[in-house]
Amino acid sequence: MIRIEHLCVNYGAVKALRDVSLEASPGRVTAVLGANGAGKTTLLRAISGLVSPQSGNILLGDRSLVRMATENIARLGVSHVPEGRGVIAELTVEDNLRLGALASKVNIAEGLEAQYQRFPVLGDRRKKYCATLSGGERQMLAMARALIAQPQVLLLDEPSLGLAPQVTSELMKTIHQLCESKNLTVILVEQNAKSALRIAHTAVVLHLGTVVASDDADKVASDDDLRRYYLGLVQ
Ligand code: ATP
Repeated sequence: MIRIEHLCVNYGAVKALRDVSLEASPGRVTAVLGANGAGKTTLLRAISGLVSPQSGNILLGDRSLVRMATENIARLGVSHVPEGRGVIAELTVEDNLRLGALASKVNIAEGLEAQYQRFPVLGDRRKKYCATLSGGERQMLAMARALIAQPQVLLLDEPSLGLAPQVTSELMKTIHQLCESKNLTVILVEQNAKSALRIAHTAVVLHLGTVVASDDADKVASDDDLRRYYLGLVQ
């Protein structure tokens, strides 16, 4: 389990997160929703050690991740798929996947095979340069690259960005299935609240760096005020 306690993150004078507390559990998708600038990306960056909090704590089980080096956080089983996917266009699908396995102890051949079984389209395209993939295929590759290291926690930053509605819907189903079948703790950051709420178990809504709601996803999805004022889902 990931537990965030009273987290505050500043960038100079900008208070990006203010007293944020939340929990994300194994086998559940925790959606973190909110408008531009709400602090969603900062939350994921703090968990994976890319920014240091001013105060508060981030616990993986009973271990604090605060001020731990990013690579050590990754070794503890936290995989981060950044906004924009972070795959390397000039490398093949297979080489991108190999990079994902580098810092872990997994058997690379077995790891590759597992990802090709999970995402057959990546197996078909294994020798292709990543630059030739569609947006949806790149997102699958980014997730497969994170999963090859067999993480406990998967942090996904705006996976639906730039994808067609049908592709987004398939991707969300894949995230849900992965989470439940692998007992993964998934933190899914999305501006696309409608798609995320369809598959999330829990939803946390951020606004200007603070938590304005944290509840079962279906309760958040049916709250008219949250939909209207924070999620941009006008009925
Ligand atoms: P978006 O969807 O636009 O990325 P977000 O909810 O992910 O929004 P963050 O990117 O976490 O929000 O940004 C939270 C606040 O911190 C915003 O006010 C943003 O302008 C500011 N911010 C983010 N990164 C930096 C940075 N490197 N330097 C200064 N301010 C930053």
